Amino acid sequence: MYQDTYRHQGMRRKLVETVRMKGISDENVLQAIGKVPRHFFMESSFLEHAYEDNAFPIAAGQTISQPYTVAFMTQLLEIKRGEKVLEIGTGSGYQACILQELGAKVFSIERQKELYDKTKRFLSQIGYVPKLFFGDGYKGLPSFAPFTKIIVTAGAPFIPEALKLQLVVGGKLVIPVGEDIQIMTTVTRLSADEFEIREWGNFRFVPLLQNREGL
Ligand code: SAH
Repeated sequence: MYQDTYRHQGMRRKLVETVRMKGISDENVLQAIGKVPRHFFMESSFLEHAYEDNAFPIAAGQTISQPYTVAFMTQLLEIKRGEKVLEIGTGSGYQACILQELGAKVFSIERQKELYDKTKRFLSQIGYVPKLFFGDGYKGLPSFAPFTKIIVTAGAPFIPEALKLQLVVGGKLVIPVGEDIQIMTTVTRLSADEFEIREWGNFRFVPLLQNREGL
């Protein structure tokens, strides 16, 4: 049912070059972008759109992030094989698959039931198996903590304390922080109670939502 043709592969190679030209230098990240068939993740598999460097609407009013943004955040994460990584905002599952291509053990949380169900079904069909959870990302995943890396893929009004505390010492959180425009921020846990915060420029994300009934 899902076909990855030479044409798709060719477009993907071009996308990799576009992302490289925009400043992504981590070869492992570029390779992962080159591997994951992004057109599988779109509502209607419009060829042209799947391999443009743009965000795109998916189900439930959400978006699949721009490939450059996915690559930028993934590069900041500095994933090593076997690391335990928590993602907040599963969405289409694209970012989770990129992390899995890098050899991470991926845990991902989505708060919209419709998207969670759809993405879970879809990822098993294309052979990626991150552990998916339906829940509120602000709380993280205490029963599976600590994580070596955490990535938040929606714009957060602030840095949730629970996420900082679910990092191992030496671990890193990548999170876009802000209301209308977000500043890409990394939080590195230096010790039990010391965190180093660094900022990496402006981005725009759909919001990380709070206070959903039943979560
Ligand atoms: N990583 C995704 C992009 C996701 S867009 C991809 O690669 O396609 C952001 C996602 O965060 C949306 O699916 C949205 O429903 C989800 N989200 C928003 N608030 C959340 C919360 N509090 N907890 C978990 N997920 C949340």
